Amino acid sequence: MLNFKNLNIKQIKDIIKEIGLESFYNEYFEWIKKEDKRIRGFLFFTENLAKNLVEELKNKKGDLPLYGIPIAIKDNILVKGEKCTAGSKILENYIATYDATVIKKLKAAGAVIVGKTNMDEFAMGSSTEYSAYFPTFNPFDSSKVPGGSSGGSAAVVGAGLLPIALGSDTGGSIRQPAAFCGIYGLKPTYGAVSRYGLIAMASSLDQIGPLAKDLEDLITLFEVIRGKDPKDSTSVEFPQDKIKETQIKTIGLPKEFFEDADSKISSLILEKIKKTNLKIKEISLKYVKYGIHCYYLIMPAEVSSNLARYEGIRYSKREKGKLWEVYEKTRGKYLGKEVKRRIIIGTFVLSHGYYEAYYLKAQKLRRAIFEDFQNAFKEVDLIISPTSPSLPFNLGEKIEDPLKMYLSDIYTVPVNLAGLPALNIPAGFINGLPVGLQVIGNLFDEYKLFEFAKILEK
Ligand code: GLN
Repeated sequence: MLNFKNLNIKQIKDIIKEIGLESFYNEYFEWIKKEDKRIRGFLFFTENLAKNLVEELKNKKGDLPLYGIPIAIKDNILVKGEKCTAGSKILENYIATYDATVIKKLKAAGAVIVGKTNMDEFAMGSSTEYSAYFPTFNPFDSSKVPGGSSGGSAAVVGAGLLPIALGSDTGGSIRQPAAFCGIYGLKPTYGAVSRYGLIAMASSLDQIGPLAKDLEDLITLFEVIRGKDPKDSTSVEFPQDKIKETQIKTIGLPKEFFEDADSKISSLILEKIKKTNLKIKEISLKYVKYGIHCYYLIMPAEVSSNLARYEGIRYSKREKGKLWEVYEKTRGKYLGKEVKRRIIIGTFVLSHGYYEAYYLKAQKLRRAIFEDFQNAFKEVDLIISPTSPSLPFNLGEKIEDPLKMYLSDIYTVPVNLAGLPALNIPAGFINGLPVGLQVIGNLFDEYKLFEFAKILEK
């Protein structure tokens, strides 16, 4: 059997040229199914769909950017005719009736969707342990979590099963698992990628984005999926002039971000950036450090309204009874504990009397966080931090303590609140476990992030 491990897009294209698409996929599926048993990154494979896509590719030109390239999709992105569970029991039998815009774009670019990946239920979590199905294992150490919520996508790419995957990031769900699995993961500028066909968690924060082992592959995937979509009114065309604006003079280090992290992680990252010879400036972000407080008010408020649609009537499984019982029993039985917790917090902060005290205050803080970043970007081109304050943790270590789990996101959530782009860059290893560096840019500065990653690779 061929060994498909750790191939990038270019290498797969070369193999396909040599042996043909069909024989590639005949062997590949057998291999990837076997390899995945070790990490359990896939919820299910989409072999029939893949066969059809391969068939269609025969009439298409070989120079498509993703011609014949296998890709894994987080299971909260709709692929027509396939199940879409969002990691939840309530959607166990739900079959998507249309393609998300990103999926349409992938198909047009020649990609072959091979499966849907595991995730925390409705993307709420940082370890993939809140999946209603099973946990996924870290590819570097199976006693550790792969991060979350896009843990399945990050684990399968980190394990070298395929070069690229899609995830979604509401508060860190692409970057943190990418950090835990030693790969690149991009949270694009809010609006750069269409959210049409993404199962909504918190709509003002959600973004779909690429995960890849190879930087060039990540850029290719980003270029395929981005762009304005009439079906998502918050989406915009990526400003072309921004693609060439890649000059980096000064990078900013927010001291708060380094003080709170595991000291081994902070030193590794500091050492790494010193070697770049870029000008380094220490900065202080006085509101950004309240990002986690702000996020855990705004996000649940949006969650509570977005998840109201799973009431047992339209998409989901249904328990029997009078109308009110249908709601109560269905939601009671098929939604997980963490999801319920957030719905309850969300309805509370939006309710009369508490709206002003919590939700409105959080909205004002959100604005202050955005301005904090804008002030920093007057002095520096990019902001650097650890992606996660800790190394990949043990399975089971944080599931009983939601607060501990929430703190996994202290460096990633401010970025979503401000709508900025940020990239996880694999920065090295401590005790055999990957460490991720987060680089944050101003709106539509994705290409500066890529440029910085290239400088680090050198
Ligand atoms: N881990 C964060 C949370 O639990 C972020 C989730 C996400 O980005 N989808 O909300």
